[in-house]
Amino acid sequence: MNRPVELCSYPGLDDRISIVRVENEVDAVFVRTRRFNVLVDTLGTPEQCRMALDLLGIEASSLPLIVVNSHMDWDHFWGNAAIAGRAPILAHASALERLRDPAAQRTLREKASQDPRFRDVELVSPTVTFAGPAVLDGGDLTLELFHTPGHTPDHLAIWIRELRTCLAVDAVEHPIPEVWSRSSKDLRLLRESLGKICGLDADIVIPAHGNTSSPSTVRENLAYFDTLAERVESLAPGQLTDPDLCHAKGYRLQDFVSVPTSLPAELVGFYEECHRTNLGATVQAQIEKQK
Ligand SMILES: [Zn+2]
Repeated sequence: MNRPVELCSYPGLDDRISIVRVENEVDAVFVRTRRFNVLVDTLGTPEQCRMALDLLGIEASSLPLIVVNSHMDWDHFWGNAAIAGRAPILAHASALERLRDPAAQRTLREKASQDPRFRDVELVSPTVTFAGPAVLDGGDLTLELFHTPGHTPDHLAIWIRELRTCLAVDAVEHPIPEVWSRSSKDLRLLRESLGKICGLDADIVIPAHGNTSSPSTVRENLAYFDTLAERVESLAPGQLTDPDLCHAKGYRLQDFVSVPTSLPAELVGFYEECHRTNLGATVQAQIEKQK
């Protein structure tokens, strides 16, 4: 069964922006400008994306539609088939590499075997890719698309200067973001991307998960990685390679951030896994520092 899609907003958010929410799964974002409409991400299935297009009244709009894939994680682009032939789909150039990787089809097979709603999903590629920054000039609003790797290599965030609003997608996340791998390079990239977003000094920062629009989440995410690095620094060399470090007192997820009590157990488990990866990457960085 596809999960319901609803439109929502945040206090103080400009009414040209709508949050397209699949509860406890992902948020896409819709932006109306004078010249065109922009949909940032297509949700986890074509059916959910079609529900979103209906709610947004896309058929009735006389303006062209532009779609952005923030990155090639299933919950953000598996709805692309609902867009194919209707609108250009923009993404960072490295998104194509991720799609060509056998892991893309493997994830689809795995998820389709667990949940029938994914059985109709086909992987549809973006149609316009770029490597540097890109600007969509809507007349009244400009959407600046900029590369924010670290969560994934192809990740894009969007800055809408006129509204001091950043669509941070998965580069910022409440309670924590997840680094792409346990390599120190990916950890450095994610921290740099968080730094870039922090430097915008946005009034509103909208991640794709966590139901928040507070810019303080960016600083909290940075502080989480700083604290991780400090605690790992104080470990003895023998402790660094302990595979169960993420269960040791002082190194568990709840020792770094407060996990919302409203979070379903499945999501708590998900963030514990994110934390395990983040801790692994921090340990790797520390091992390299000691060499
Ligand atoms: Zn996501």
